[in-house]
Amino acid sequence: MKLILLGAPGAGKGTQAEVICKELDIPAISTGNIIREAMKNGTKAGLEAKSYVESGGLVPDEIVLEMLKERLAQDDCKNGYILDGFPRNLKQAEALDRMGIVIDKVISIEISDDAIVERLTGRRVCQDCGSSYHTVYKPSKDGELCDKCTGRLIIRKDDEPETVLNRLKTYHELTEPLKEYYGKSGKLRPVESQEEVLETTKLTLKALEA
Ligand code: ADP
Ligand code: ZN
Repeated sequence: MKLILLGAPGAGKGTQAEVICKELDIPAISTGNIIREAMKNGTKAGLEAKSYVESGGLVPDEIVLEMLKERLAQDDCKNGYILDGFPRNLKQAEALDRMGIVIDKVISIEISDDAIVERLTGRRVCQDCGSSYHTVYKPSKDGELCDKCTGRLIIRKDDEPETVLNRLKTYHELTEPLKEYYGKSGKLRPVESQEEVLETTKLTLKALEA
C-alpha cells in the first residue's frame, strides 16, 4: 500500500503517520524529518535547505526529490510506505507519477488556520532531548524546563509566529491544489481533524477502508 498524507503544517500528519505505519506495517517517510536530519548533519543538501525551511518556504524540488529517491530505494520500502509531507506542490506530484509510483490513497487532514496557529505557536521543544510540549495542551511541570532531562524548552525556529503564517501561506498556495489533483483520480479521502488525537486516528483508519 502506498499512501500520501496531506494537510497543513501542524495538522498532525506525523502523529497519524505513526499510527498507520504500525497498523499496516509499512514505514512512514517524512521529508521534513529527512531535511532536518540533513541540516543537523550539515550535509551539502542540508546546508542548502536551511534558509528555505527557516523562512517557511519550500526546499527546492531537486533537493527534496534526490533525498526522497534515496530513501525509497531502501529495503523497508518494498511493500509500500506512507509519504508524510511529500508531495508538497504539483511538480513533486508529477515527479512521483513519472517515477512510476502508483499511489493507492491520499488522506487529507482538514483543520482551520486558527487552530493551526494556536497549536504551532504554543509548541515548545527541549533543546537537549527534542521532547515536544505545548504551553496550553501539554505544559512541562516547570513551564520552562524539560520534564525528562531538565533541558531548556525553546521555540523551533520555524514555529515562530511569522514563519507559521508563511508556512500556512505556502500550504494554501502550493500544496492545497493537490487535493484537486488527487480528487480527480478518486484517491482523495478527507479527514476532519478532531480535538482528541485518538478520534482523528479512528477517522483516519476508517478513511483507509473506504
Ligand atoms: P510541517 O508539515 O509542520 O510544516 P515538516 O516537518 O513536514 O513540517 O516540514 C518542515 C519544512 O521542511 C517545511 O516547512 C519545508 O520548508 C521543508 N519541506 C518538507 N517537505 C518538503 C517537500 N516535500 N518539499 C519542499 N520542502 C519540504
Ligand atoms: Zn529534554
